[in-house]
Amino acid sequence: MSTETIEFQAEARQLLRLMIHSIYSNKDVFLRELISNASDALDKLRLAAYQDKDLGADTGDLHVELVADAGARTLTVRDNGIGMTRDEVVDLIGTIARSGTAELLTRLREAGDSEHAQELIGQFGVGFYSSFMVADRVELVTRRAGTTEGVHWSSDGEGSYTIEPAADAPQGTSVTLHLKASDAEDQMHDYADPGVLRRIVKTYSDFITWPVRLAGGEGDPETLNSMKALWARPQKDVSDEEYAEFYRHVAHDWQEPLETIRLAAEGTFEYQALLFLPKVAPMDLHMRDARRGVQLYVRRVFIMDDCEALVPEYLRFVKGVVDAADLSLNVSREILQQDRQISAIRRRLVRKVLSVVGGLRENEPEKYATFWEQCGRALKEGLLSDPDNRETILGVASFATTHGDEPTGLADYVARMPEGQDAVYYMTGDSRSAVESSPHMEAFRAKGYEVLVLTDPVDEVWVDAVEGFEGTPLRSIAKGQVDLQSDEEKEQAAARQEEFAELCTWMAEVLTEDVKEVRLSSRLTTSPAVLVGDEHDMTPTLEKMYRAMGQEPPKVKRILELNPSHPLVAGLRDARAAGRDESGTVELLHGMALLAEGGELTDPSRFVGLLASRLERAL
Ligand code: ADP
Repeated sequence: MSTETIEFQAEARQLLRLMIHSIYSNKDVFLRELISNASDALDKLRLAAYQDKDLGADTGDLHVELVADAGARTLTVRDNGIGMTRDEVVDLIGTIARSGTAELLTRLREAGDSEHAQELIGQFGVGFYSSFMVADRVELVTRRAGTTEGVHWSSDGEGSYTIEPAADAPQGTSVTLHLKASDAEDQMHDYADPGVLRRIVKTYSDFITWPVRLAGGEGDPETLNSMKALWARPQKDVSDEEYAEFYRHVAHDWQEPLETIRLAAEGTFEYQALLFLPKVAPMDLHMRDARRGVQLYVRRVFIMDDCEALVPEYLRFVKGVVDAADLSLNVSREILQQDRQISAIRRRLVRKVLSVVGGLRENEPEKYATFWEQCGRALKEGLLSDPDNRETILGVASFATTHGDEPTGLADYVARMPEGQDAVYYMTGDSRSAVESSPHMEAFRAKGYEVLVLTDPVDEVWVDAVEGFEGTPLRSIAKGQVDLQSDEEKEQAAARQEEFAELCTWMAEVLTEDVKEVRLSSRLTTSPAVLVGDEHDMTPTLEKMYRAMGQEPPKVKRILELNPSHPLVAGLRDARAAGRDESGTVELLHGMALLAEGGELTDPSRFVGLLASRLERAL
């Protein structure tokens, strides 16, 4: 096979253009990315050789090597790791398969050249393409361990690359950067200068567990990094900067972590963990195929990335490493799902993360607020999926409330409850304004009762699973009966019940297609009518969510509640008593209640016709 020229995938091309016109101010990070890839390749080879004795790979002296040539102005980053086949090079280097790419590019376009763009791209992880920040041309020679023929790849990053067979490629990958001339003058950033390389490796890659060597000069190559696994070093010996660099390595984030969490256990299940909470949620946090899980090591040997068995889905923003002492190096993902030791670690890890979040809420409100804004929505999924920790999650969660602009915790809500209030009240809906202007709010506002405003899609689902918080029941203001009345008011209401009984029965007949009951309300002060659901009925927002996902939920008939103090309702009663047919007005009343909650009329033109004729009569 001879040389082929292949176009980069469109998304890859756009990202490359950004790299070349470097929106990243800190170019040094390209080396961290390349060493990180090299280190991963060594991890993968060690594991593959362990699992397949016939691989025929050389694992004698696994390392990363930097070769700088000041005369030729090149820098080569070489590893003798797993390497890539031709198809892998085309797939992995020529395309970006990561979820969230399209969204990233849209957001980048919106952000323009601003600092925000840097942030976005950093969050996404720049990887191999960052080489083009410092090089006009990049060459990659690689041979997959266990195969005989290598591949030579070359590109200037401007749209296409060439690829051809390479007969004598050594096992592993070497990436040669033809450095931009413009960086040669800059002493701090001359990447052909050993001093600069030493500094960068020390800063960004010290913890890499493989030797990173600097070749050249006379004598032996020099190892630049200390290779100490951070999680195995005493906590006090690790600086914040080192943690931050390690975090960037495992999380593909550009920022420092919001919080660093360490835990360790000895005895039967010995393990160490080093975990991080992010400052900014990963780009794919709310996408269906979001990456989750931490890296799994067994006694310092890397086993896998994204080990789902260690972290529940609702904690998918947690990044880091778990190093377990007593697992087989041969474990598969399937086995891990059932492993007792892994589930024990997972339980402990979940409790620890939740307690750290709780600690932030207690002691570092600003950090907590950042965390909650970024990751709260994901965490709330645990209210449904992790019943064992439900109370704890409720305890560390925050919710928007009618009490003010700041979100509140449930303990604070309960502490504010006035005498006589015996439940935590909430309402779900599409938006804060929809909830606040809902007729359901009226009686609660009149009473001065605080209501939680739940507008995340996930809120629609967990509220049904959660009965209460520390003994105080959780209740929707839009469902079931509300009981806010004093004894005196109740007596009056009972008397009215009689007065309106006939009207309610008749209205229920008129509206039989749409409502299952018509009754008097104690939740209205100004609106004439409102629609409510039974305790376990699906809410209109949830119905909408099902439709948005392409499913048709079963039709739920609602309950129409009337405000007996409203002139319209009293008028209807009198008209009915006088034998006039006001079924059109009844339909209008129902339509108004639907509109008031942001719902849609089944037959808008019929509604408008009825309305026009009523108005005509009134003029
Ligand atoms: P990321 O490392 O974030 O996945 P990169 O663009 O840096 O993204 O790399 C894409 C993929 O190419 C890697 O996931 C890996 O599979 C492969 N790759 C990159 N560098 C090497 C290397 N030195 N050896 C083997 N595979 C590599």
